[in-house]
Amino acid sequence: MLEIIRVSKSFDETPALREVSFSVAKGEIIAVLGPSGCGKSTLLNVIAGLLLPETGEVCWDDVPLTDLPTHQRNFGLMFQDYALFPHRDVFGNVAFGLQQQLLPPAVVRARVTAIMEQVGLADFGRRDVNTLSGGEQQRVALARALAPQPRLLMLDEPLSALDRALREELLRELRQILRVLEQTAIYVTHDQEEAYAVADRVIIMRTGEIQQIGAPDEIYAQPASAYVARFLGLTNILIAMPERSDGQLGVWLPAAGWQPLANGGQQPPDDYAPISVLLKPTGAQISENGNLCGTVTGISFRGALIRLQLQPEQGPPLRFELPTPAEMPLVGTQIQLELPPNAVIWQPEGDQ
Ligand code: ADP
Repeated sequence: MLEIIRVSKSFDETPALREVSFSVAKGEIIAVLGPSGCGKSTLLNVIAGLLLPETGEVCWDDVPLTDLPTHQRNFGLMFQDYALFPHRDVFGNVAFGLQQQLLPPAVVRARVTAIMEQVGLADFGRRDVNTLSGGEQQRVALARALAPQPRLLMLDEPLSALDRALREELLRELRQILRVLEQTAIYVTHDQEEAYAVADRVIIMRTGEIQQIGAPDEIYAQPASAYVARFLGLTNILIAMPERSDGQLGVWLPAAGWQPLANGGQQPPDDYAPISVLLKPTGAQISENGNLCGTVTGISFRGALIRLQLQPEQGPPLRFELPTPAEMPLVGTQIQLELPPNAVIWQPEGDQ
């Protein structure tokens, strides 16, 4: 098991990682998600042993790896720029790491054949890599990284050069392959949909710090900060004063009336201290006597769902994702939405 313990790293006195700690269980796929420049690659380089942290440790099964050079860590790496060897055929590319280990040719052949089958390249051995499609090249790169059976595979934006449809297909396959091999993996991306599609748990980073770690649905249901919420594309954020009514803690929202606040394991907010509240975009329904009234300012269809933008009388526009109703609301009309129980997630104001 991999453990990152309070790792910090700066460049020219500007911190790129600050006290980063987390662990990865055997067979787990972790996605590290954050915008460009938040420290994702630095983190991978520290784990790989290509960069030394200033403080903190990287451990495997409780053994610090500090003095273990990169090539002895048995960690595999796959980058966006996966640079296949152009003068080797597919077999030669996949066999590379094993040949470096001076394994007997029969062992190399058996392992390469097995892994090529696993990634869907069974008959590709003699193909020139320059004649492969983008998706096929990606599979060769994956097979090359997996062939030496690394105890950890790190993937740094491996699919960002591909178009969306191909990326989605490869993501599903990739998850399946990693699962079958019970491969422990860290997948770095700035794309939340990619992170959600591939990972068991997601780490959300911001300027060198971890903002939240959790299963995708946990993070979506309870983002730890307004930053995380915005990063996930949740934009229904309002500022409000919490109050007590009949002993119950809640907020009066100009848009949505009285909303009780679940505390989600957090300290209850102080009365009269403003908080940011997030109206969950899912779970609402169009209703004749709902608690949120507004004018439809945008609508888009996504199969069984519609995305609706609603402008309440006061406050910013709000976005919701609803099951496609039998009767479609029209842009410019007023509608009412019934919000689900615990529609509101809150955090202290200023915690951006
Ligand atoms: P990400 O992978 O999330 O885009 P990086 O880990 O590449 O982020 O970078 C984190 C921060 O560290 C950025 O501000 C970047 O400019 C800085 N940085 C990364 N590598 C170096 C380096 N070799 N020298 C100086 N600054 C660096």
